[in-house]
Amino acid sequence: MYLERIGSGTPVGNGLVRAIMAFLENQRLEPTPVNYTFAYHVLSDPAGDLAREVARRTDGGVRLSGSEVAELGNAIEAAALGHVGPAPTCPAAATVPDEPGPRVAETQRLVAGFESTVTAMQDETRDFGRDLAASADALRAVPCIDIVTTIADLAKITATMRARVEIAESRLAQAKREASELREELAAAHEDARRDPLTELPNRRAFEAALAGKTGGPFHVALCDVDHFKSINDQYGHPVGDRVLKAIAATLTRECAGQLVARYGGEEFAVLLDGIDPMAAGALLERARRAVGARRYRLRESDTVIDGITLSAGLVTLRSDETIVEGVARADHLLYAAKRGGRNRMVGEMR
Ligand code: GH3
Ligand code: MG
Ligand code: MG
Repeated sequence: MYLERIGSGTPVGNGLVRAIMAFLENQRLEPTPVNYTFAYHVLSDPAGDLAREVARRTDGGVRLSGSEVAELGNAIEAAALGHVGPAPTCPAAATVPDEPGPRVAETQRLVAGFESTVTAMQDETRDFGRDLAASADALRAVPCIDIVTTIADLAKITATMRARVEIAESRLAQAKREASELREELAAAHEDARRDPLTELPNRRAFEAALAGKTGGPFHVALCDVDHFKSINDQYGHPVGDRVLKAIAATLTRECAGQLVARYGGEEFAVLLDGIDPMAAGALLERARRAVGARRYRLRESDTVIDGITLSAGLVTLRSDETIVEGVARADHLLYAAKRGGRNRMVGEMR
């Protein structure tokens, strides 16, 4: 526990300063006014709610993040203003579902930190306005003979305001850092959600989104399924099956250059052909399909050669009066006609 590490007594004077510096160093926090004030509150009241919350969060050697300092710092200010509410809860515990992906959890943590930083800045701004209004009222009310006292009061208010501006500036800098981190995280999460990690092709979601965003046409959709792929896994093992899938993805991408090739499911690929007529689409797909079937794979481990891994495919030209789902379902139907017809073939629409 953190409290045990620093001892349960309250440090005073230089001892307190040293304890604050040690705390900041230990937590890898910059010695900014915000962090210093925060550490002061933690260490000057080791039995208080804030120190206990910090102890809970840092139990086991975990370090506080900048956003947690901002969040807990807000709680101090709210308490000082008399807005005592329930003890702050850890944003991660409140918002993260049971087992999110690490990138999602990190993004949620950043969003929580960013929100609390912005809220803290709004509070600061509101306080500026309130103090300014109060000092203006005081100036109007004070008779000239009290001018020295008034100037002293104004100097005090100005000093307080300068300190607040520094705090607000450091929070703004923190918010900017978190916003740019957040932007990068979101872009990466967006990319992750649309790419198949094995083949690095766009996934089904990306394929459907691309199709939905298309205007004009004609567009052709091909669904391709590897023939008897289960037997490749059974004979050579799943890792070899994975390597074959990656090679097929690369062949299709090369042969269909300029068109969208996606991994639609396990051993299924989809191709969106655009800017060519149905005959050209059929010819292009057939060439790609044959290129896949002509590939030979040599197993590094045993020098064994695997060949004859073929694709069956169904190809449709999307109709203007049908939905994407209906068009893809027709392609699927033709793919299964190709399977029933003996595999290693493409079936297009009858015209
Ligand atoms: P069909 O010609 O009728 O399509 O036969 P099939 O064996 O290809 O079809 P089936 O649906 O019976 O089996 C598909 C196999 O694809 C089973 C599954 O384990 C394998 N598979 C799906 N995704 C992957 C993957 O990412 N890696 C590997 N190695 N295998 C996969
Ligand atoms: Mg299949
Ligand atoms: Mg198959």
